[in-house]
Amino acid sequence: MAASTILLKWNWINQMETKLLTANDIETAAAVLRDGGLLGIPTETVYGLGADGLNPDAVRRIFEAKGRPQDNPLILHIPDVSWLERYCHDIPPAACLLAEKFWPGPLTMILPRREIVPDAVACGLETVGIRCPNHPVFLAILRALDRPVAAPSGNRSGRPSPTCARHMLEDMDGRVEAIVDGGPCGVGVESTIIDLTAPVPRLLRPGGLPLEALEEVLGEIAVDKAVVSPLADGEKPRAPGMKYRHYAPRAPVTVLTGPGDRTARYIREKMGDHTGVICFDEYAGQFPGGTVETIGASGDAAAQARRVFDALRAFDRTDVTAIFAQCPGDGGLGLAVANRLKKAAGFQVVELGEGEA
Ligand code: AMP
Ligand code: MG
Repeated sequence: MAASTILLKWNWINQMETKLLTANDIETAAAVLRDGGLLGIPTETVYGLGADGLNPDAVRRIFEAKGRPQDNPLILHIPDVSWLERYCHDIPPAACLLAEKFWPGPLTMILPRREIVPDAVACGLETVGIRCPNHPVFLAILRALDRPVAAPSGNRSGRPSPTCARHMLEDMDGRVEAIVDGGPCGVGVESTIIDLTAPVPRLLRPGGLPLEALEEVLGEIAVDKAVVSPLADGEKPRAPGMKYRHYAPRAPVTVLTGPGDRTARYIREKMGDHTGVICFDEYAGQFPGGTVETIGASGDAAAQARRVFDALRAFDRTDVTAIFAQCPGDGGLGLAVANRLKKAAGFQVVELGEGEA
């Protein structure tokens, strides 16, 4: 691409005026999507960057605005389970069971896709990730639009996901037509992704619906290697997005697993000037001189999920040059919180024993 073309594109992206809408502006929000525009949308998980899911040109603009790699497919959002048949085929009984129990909610199912789903959404895969979000504003927009919405998280690629409209504006001002401010997200981490096309259902990404809840309905679930450990060079995860460094603040992150008193002591020993600390509430007073972000009590994984991205983002407004994070154990929403912290750290993890606190 010629330098002048690149410059033109850059200007075009940055000259757009991003409108802030409220939860009452459903028709305006739907019109943005209908016209092929990009819309910041509140969901119960994180804010999404939505486009008309059946309009390939609009969907392609999502990748441009985010700087998202072209091989990382998008999740298609629908207002209720009756739309599943329109976009998926060979739907197994397990999918119906899960939808009945957990939709609307933070669960994405990977299913064989019909041809009507644009390649731009699926990035060449034969499958599509599909979800019914549990947020009144998003559901109202979907119904007003009467089409599915393709939406990844509304951050610039690689950055922590946005959990309020301000975060979205930080990353997307000038790059999207509008953002709907629906207040802070109730769950705070993205949806749980389960692949139902494999012989044994496979967890591709831990998220707002705990693995244990899925196991209660499905029995055995395989956990994709990319959930808990870094991938070897060239190794391909089943959710293409899991191979990218993600959620990362500018300063490098080190994650500490193990009992809270031990992880706190380790952090104190390593602290220097300009150190950031992500810790459980009980330990907030133990890092004098550090820049401290608390993420909730050690036993409250739901609070940690709501706070974790905000905490990661907060350090970019400071002069910290290294960040240490206490990490919860893998039970319940702890698996998703730990996954986001470890990915933010590029799996730079120091293990200091079993358990979290
Ligand atoms: P985001 O919306 O930013 O959380 O990204 C969506 C995630 O869903 C990424 O990790 C994608 O790789 C994953 N995903 C979307 N569609 C599929 C699919 N058909 N198969 C596997 N993973 C998918
Ligand atoms: Mg994302």
